[in-house]
Amino acid sequence: MTSYKFSQEELSQFSRYVYETFQDIAVTSHMIHWRRHGCLLEETVKTTGIKMCGEPFSQYIVGSQSEGSTTDGMNSDTDYFYSHCDHLVVLEEKEWRWGKWNLLAFEDEETPPQFYKLRRMEHDRLGYVTEPLLSTDVVDDQGRVLMSNKWLDEHMESTFGHLVQHKCTTRGPQVSQGGLISHGPSRSWTEKIDFVHALPCATLPEECQFLFQRPRPGHWPKPKTLEYARQCPAFFVQQGPANTLIEVRVLQWRLSTTLIERQLMFDLNEVQMLVYILLKMMRVCYIKPQFDDNLSTFHFKTAMMFTIETHSPDIWRKDNIVACTTYCFNTLLRWIKLRYCPHFTTKGVNIFDGKLSRHELQQLESVIMQIRDNIVWYICNLEMDMFGLRIMDKMGIRVMPFIIKNARRKNIQKIQKKIIGNVSNVKSTLIEEVALQYNRMGPDEAQQRVTLQLQLLRSMQATGSDLEREAASLYIPYLYGYLASIRASLCIASNQPVTQDIHQLYHLSLKGDLMSGKLKYASMLYCSGQYAKAAQMLTHCEGLLGPDVAHYCGCIGREYEFQSERYLEKGLNTNIADLLRTSSTVCIKFSIYELPCVPEHLQYEMYRTQTQEDRKKRYREHGWMDQVVIDCQPFLYYLQFLVYTQMGQPYRQLKAMQNQGDYFTCLKQKQIRGHGDTAANVLAHCIELVDWSNFSNMAWKRYQMSIRTYPNNNAAWIHLIRLFRKHFV
Ligand SMILES: [Zn+2]
Repeated sequence: MTSYKFSQEELSQFSRYVYETFQDIAVTSHMIHWRRHGCLLEETVKTTGIKMCGEPFSQYIVGSQSEGSTTDGMNSDTDYFYSHCDHLVVLEEKEWRWGKWNLLAFEDEETPPQFYKLRRMEHDRLGYVTEPLLSTDVVDDQGRVLMSNKWLDEHMESTFGHLVQHKCTTRGPQVSQGGLISHGPSRSWTEKIDFVHALPCATLPEECQFLFQRPRPGHWPKPKTLEYARQCPAFFVQQGPANTLIEVRVLQWRLSTTLIERQLMFDLNEVQMLVYILLKMMRVCYIKPQFDDNLSTFHFKTAMMFTIETHSPDIWRKDNIVACTTYCFNTLLRWIKLRYCPHFTTKGVNIFDGKLSRHELQQLESVIMQIRDNIVWYICNLEMDMFGLRIMDKMGIRVMPFIIKNARRKNIQKIQKKIIGNVSNVKSTLIEEVALQYNRMGPDEAQQRVTLQLQLLRSMQATGSDLEREAASLYIPYLYGYLASIRASLCIASNQPVTQDIHQLYHLSLKGDLMSGKLKYASMLYCSGQYAKAAQMLTHCEGLLGPDVAHYCGCIGREYEFQSERYLEKGLNTNIADLLRTSSTVCIKFSIYELPCVPEHLQYEMYRTQTQEDRKKRYREHGWMDQVVIDCQPFLYYLQFLVYTQMGQPYRQLKAMQNQGDYFTCLKQKQIRGHGDTAANVLAHCIELVDWSNFSNMAWKRYQMSIRTYPNNNAAWIHLIRLFRKHFV
């Protein structure tokens, strides 16, 4: 290809087109920050929930999703990073801490830079363990007990192995023995998500201090960023050095500074982020087909960071995007020629090692030179997100008349749907975990546990970061709801009136989301015979339904999300936690100690798992089936039906049943999920209660319909047997 020499003016104009094209596909400063905030909220909600459950983990979302360095067409996976806070890797004996699973990191002749072996220490006294603690531990020839990097694999495989769908991956058949997909330190059941489990380091190793000590021009990273980065721990992840024997590899752990790197990426300005995204797009389109992931995003990220550090901050302008991209390619080329690519945060590491052979580096050199010297041509030919076509359209070259010029709105909505849905699901899943823990305790212990959890959340609200306050605000109302409902259940079960302080607790529970707290309250009012009050609350709830309300259900096997355009529009300028509290509903869950606050017919849902076949179809993630779970709308209509029946208001009673029927028809027509089986079961009960001739036949049909949708773990079986006995026995 002969290079055409563009004038400075032409390149500036082209850079502006690149910038505008990013705007058109929703890669804007606002969306990068919106996405970042959403990811950080999701991880804080998750970590807060894990803390409530008393588990020793923290979760982080790292990589492109939290950085915001992705586009719709890039289809990036999500990288979850779990820190096992009950472990502590020490670099010297004096760092040992009581009560932790301490491990001493050391290097020897087998460990290349960035890799360590971890020797097990006692957790209750300073000293070394002499016998293996896990079946994967290895005793070396000096009698040291070493922790293998396969320590979690068996557990992960037995817990998640059944979820693996595609064993042959696009990144090569890297499937571990039990079936999980493994890329580097990640173990996952799907290509869309990477899970890395990591052990935190007590202090930052010497080689990582390098980031804070080496001389630099000083304009980047900002001092504040370096301060935050210095507070981030380093970790050890489950990855041994490539190109070594498996026996050697499993005993080594790679040092990871992923949280430090994340802080640095958060310090990129808009143009720098766009240049980085452009580099990533070019890697996927032009380099990956030939070199797979051997020249990875991480190499480009490193080149980007060194380029920012060494170039003047003035170059990062909208009209200079193309030149900046060229500078990054230059940085990378310099290293390829040297066959040495330094790590940005860790001294003495060549990140080409184990990734690219000398021969491949030679080939890569000419490929990258070719791209750098013809960068405009390569950008114009980017197929991802129809990027090239969009730019040519701006240049007046009408290549495809049907091109969707502005994908901005559609892409913004996609990002919102994913992120808001994730936060909602994480919250619901953790609330479910918490409630399942209550199921395993006595009612008194459950109350004590809720009270302690509320204390934790309250203190987080008082002294935590903004994100922690937001996360706590999402949980607090639900916990008040459980506390109120458990106490009210004790009153109802012993025929005592529900006391004023319990009503007070219910009032604190009403604002977790738009409706589930209110419906729980209404359900208690119905079960304790306070029909007029219940009817009032239900009328209020009915008035809240509308086109800008979203519905979520994250129960595995019944996942359902509905987010209208109006809801998403509102979401752009509303804080995500506020949006979930004021404009979203989630399915309602009752734990075992709340059954007296649940209408009797609905209580059967708690016992949906009856047969051996049912048990075979259940996995760990189906814990929700041990609770009564129903979606808000059918519960609203069902409660209205029951309340108006008690109040002797047949017109309203039938109206509620009709609404229930309409909801069910809509559910069927749209083939959507959610708890459709339970919706059918309560509709059938309404039909049973009306008790007109032929109606029990119709109820029978509804239960059958429910079973046809979900043949296992469905309470409809119990109702069919009940109806059968009623008529024939
Ligand atoms: Zn659900």
